[in-house]
Amino acid sequence: MQGDHCAGGNRMSATRKGKVTKEIPAKPREPSPSKVKGLAKRDLARFKRLLEEEQRRLLLELEGVEEIVEGAREEISGMNFEGYDEDLADFAVDTFEREKGLVLESSIQDMLAQVEAALKKIEEGTYGICERCGQPISLERLEALPWAKLCISCKALEEKRRGM
Ligand SMILES: [Zn+2]
Repeated sequence: MQGDHCAGGNRMSATRKGKVTKEIPAKPREPSPSKVKGLAKRDLARFKRLLEEEQRRLLLELEGVEEIVEGAREEISGMNFEGYDEDLADFAVDTFEREKGLVLESSIQDMLAQVEAALKKIEEGTYGICERCGQPISLERLEALPWAKLCISCKALEEKRRGM
């Protein structure tokens, strides 16, 4: 696949509010919690705790990274480019650090959006149900990846489609 408007791994910009517009080809019929056997209340509560913990952790991490990125940004904007040749190495290092920070920042935001979306689903009663096929996501998979949106087979399909 090529020609994606946003290159660089992140398929969508993770907005802080967690409202992410996705490409849903044809609306998969509304997975209603009454039809699909959902998770036991106890499991739900457990996943909710896990997700909330993860959310806290990510927010803390994000704060840390934002500080680093801010710092690097200030440093670079205050740089004198006349001594470019000599400082090239330093500049490269700074840029590298900053890029790394930005990449890290956006991947944390991406994760955070996924965690928040999962928490929202818990509230809505659609947690643990595959967004694509409407079947329950296996407990095993949720244990490993509490914010999983797709069941394992849909996930595999999607990755194949993306050429990952
Ligand atoms: Zn599925």
